[in-house]
Amino acid sequence: MAVLELKNVTKTYKLAGGGSFQALKGISASFEAGELVAIVGESGSGKSTLMNTIGGLDSDFGGQIIYEGKNLATYSKQELVDYHKKSIGFIFQNFNLIPHLSLLDNVAMAMTLSNVNQKTREARAKELLKQVGLEAHIYKKPDAISGGQKQRVAIARALINDPDMIIADEPTGALDAETTDTVLELIKDIAKSGKLVLMVTHSERVASHCSRVLRIDNGQLLEDFRQEELVIEDSQNKEQVAVKNMSWYNAFRLALLNMKAKFGRNALVAVGSSIGIMSVVLMLSLGKGVTSYVKSTMNSYTNPRVTEVHKNGTSNQKRMATQTNGNSAAQAQANQDMLKALTGTGNDSGFSQKEIKKLASLKDVTKAQKGFSTISLGTTTVKYKNKEASIVQLQTMSSAVTDSNIRQGKRPGKNEILIDAGTADILGKNMIGKKVTLHLTVDSKQIEKTFKVAGTYSLSASGSSTATILARYSDLASLYKETGTNLKPNVIYLTAKDKDATSRVKDKVKDLGYSGSMQEAMTDMFSDMLTIITDVLTGIAAISLIVSTIMILVVLNISVVERTKEIGVLKALGARRKDIRRIFVSEAFLIGLSAGALGDLVTWILSLIANHFSQAMFEINVVAITPQYVISGLVISILISMLAGMMPANRASKLDPVDSLRKE
Ligand code: ADP
Ligand code: MG
Repeated sequence: MAVLELKNVTKTYKLAGGGSFQALKGISASFEAGELVAIVGESGSGKSTLMNTIGGLDSDFGGQIIYEGKNLATYSKQELVDYHKKSIGFIFQNFNLIPHLSLLDNVAMAMTLSNVNQKTREARAKELLKQVGLEAHIYKKPDAISGGQKQRVAIARALINDPDMIIADEPTGALDAETTDTVLELIKDIAKSGKLVLMVTHSERVASHCSRVLRIDNGQLLEDFRQEELVIEDSQNKEQVAVKNMSWYNAFRLALLNMKAKFGRNALVAVGSSIGIMSVVLMLSLGKGVTSYVKSTMNSYTNPRVTEVHKNGTSNQKRMATQTNGNSAAQAQANQDMLKALTGTGNDSGFSQKEIKKLASLKDVTKAQKGFSTISLGTTTVKYKNKEASIVQLQTMSSAVTDSNIRQGKRPGKNEILIDAGTADILGKNMIGKKVTLHLTVDSKQIEKTFKVAGTYSLSASGSSTATILARYSDLASLYKETGTNLKPNVIYLTAKDKDATSRVKDKVKDLGYSGSMQEAMTDMFSDMLTIITDVLTGIAAISLIVSTIMILVVLNISVVERTKEIGVLKALGARRKDIRRIFVSEAFLIGLSAGALGDLVTWILSLIANHFSQAMFEINVVAITPQYVISGLVISILISMLAGMMPANRASKLDPVDSLRKE
């Protein structure tokens, strides 16, 4: 029974400049198992074209090529892939071994593409390499062996899946007479084992060894001549190879081997694109470090459990509104209101008893303390003997003032105050325990009162603070009473049950329409500004990511061009488009992974250096790398590379195997 039947096969090439060329003009023949067929003819007569069509590399032909009862032209993609994998083996004139793979991997390739496990495929490849006499060289690369040896490897490769047919296009064309004989013997053995061998040759001597000769001229079959009866020596049972599709794992492994072969170049690309990743991660970490430094210094001298609550500046809003209305009387009234608010005598900045109760009853709040704070530019002064200092802010004691705020002395008792360290220096040396006179204006009335200095105060470690007097709320209230004014608290200090609850309390207070402390507002403003700056710098750094994307794209494109032939071979061995794409995408993934890892590593090293210096100088870590940044760096790098790899991978997968194999 015929293994293969050609019925009036024609092939017409479309020419690039329009027009067409008919390379095969109706070839009919029938082939049986065990035949060794020599195909001879002038150069350009159509021999390779015939081989490629029979080999299923080109489905665009006329007539019929029937294998297992079905015309090749009607095969589905998967059927064609299976045909390549298990029915046919190719041997090329130029061997077409894959240069970066060992002989073992080259021979095992068709099995790798069929997802046969490593142990099985290597055992089979070793056995075949032994049959062609190369067992001593299995781990060598193709470049390390001679031409004759390469062709023996190619023969082993063609046999790995035990195909029914071998197609050999001038297998001895690049060999000298002696090696030609060895290769010819191997090919004769293949035919004897019951396979159909179609061999293109120029040499009449080689043709004379064959059982049948087809002479082709100008796309037509001139002669079909049987020289000897075929003798099949041992028709063993055909090994059934399970044909599966290649897994991601194997695609990845092939990618890894290629990356290794082009290590220098790939390392350079990875280094190049790691710079982009590094700048982005570094900028983010730097922003984070600086922001948290600002936050921690701004908040380190306040009690972490205390929330300061202010009423929103309603009078300010009123004033703005009236200004735009141009109503001068209303504006004057609003100004008055604001002044009252500042001195703490206004109604709208004071908390009513009801409001205080409500705040005190918030969840997580254990204590609500009345407080009063007023800015008095020059109207409040403090006198000691003949020295006088102006006070900018008068404030009441609360649990918000921590012991770390008290530089010297202790917390004030009845009729005692704290004065800020700077003001204390103006008044005299060692003011603790001294009596000072406080002058202040309440409701246009000047009042005077003597207080004992309990200690000095500062908001931060550096000691620089505004001129502030801290008195007890009860003392201040009785002082106001003397003038006939009722002191209304304009600040409420809420103490949370623990540190972690504070932020919840703060959020709730804001939800209720109150505002926090001045410091908090400033901290927020600073961190907002820093966030903007960080975002801008990160954005600029991200531009370099575009550069690396393009770089990876170019390199992978070059790689596709360089490996055109390899891709052709892979397709002839049964690689699907998907497989080729996966190999290239895996390579892109590997570049991205190494670039990301390198970028993260360099950022980490730089952060150690930067933090070492910033610790020595300011006792802070300027760069705060978080796991999120590290992981994002890695993920972004991989995504970018794979995105860049998509186009070249697609291009590679679409290469026409016939064109690829013809490429010099
Ligand atoms: P052989 O292998 O016998 O030397 P080929 O099969 O390679 O011949 O080529 C047969 C003819 O088809 C030649 O004239 C060649 O120029 C032409 N040919 C081959 N490939 C193409 C192609 N892709 N486009 C146009 N013409 C082609
Ligand atoms: Mg040819």
